[in-house]
Amino acid sequence: MKTEKILQQAEKTCMEQGGRLTPKRRQVLEILLQQPQPLSAYEIADHYQQILSETIPAMSVYRMLDFLISQGLVHKLASANKFIACSHITCTHGHQTPQFLICDNCHSVREVGIDNRLINALKKSISDNKFQLNSPQLELHGLCEDCQ
Ligand SMILES: [Zn+2]
Ligand SMILES: [Zn+2]
Ligand SMILES: [Zn+2]
Repeated sequence: MKTEKILQQAEKTCMEQGGRLTPKRRQVLEILLQQPQPLSAYEIADHYQQILSETIPAMSVYRMLDFLISQGLVHKLASANKFIACSHITCTHGHQTPQFLICDNCHSVREVGIDNRLINALKKSISDNKFQLNSPQLELHGLCEDCQ
């Protein structure tokens, strides 16, 4: 039920941004929404096959993920090369640069907002070092509350 509501909002968000949440893209997003852990494109393809009894090449999954990322519905965890549904799809507030707390024990991921001032200070320190940042996304590894 909750997932259904998020998917409806996702459809609306895509429409507003001029995109289209096709049934296949919707299915990929639904798979991610139902997993507490981030998934690789291959794992998504496996789930897809189990649900629809239909094989899907990983390349197609990557293309659908690219679309979902461009719409701000999915985030890529670069350090793990895995994907996770945005936890703010139904939120009305603006989306900050996503930051992630990754548990190294149970592999759960929490998307957290980090103070923009902190991010800006970090960006400044990086540019002071003559480094050009491609993405200010932070992926912090540790232990979640349950695993401590
Ligand atoms: Zn997000
Ligand atoms: Zn939110
Ligand atoms: Zn944990």
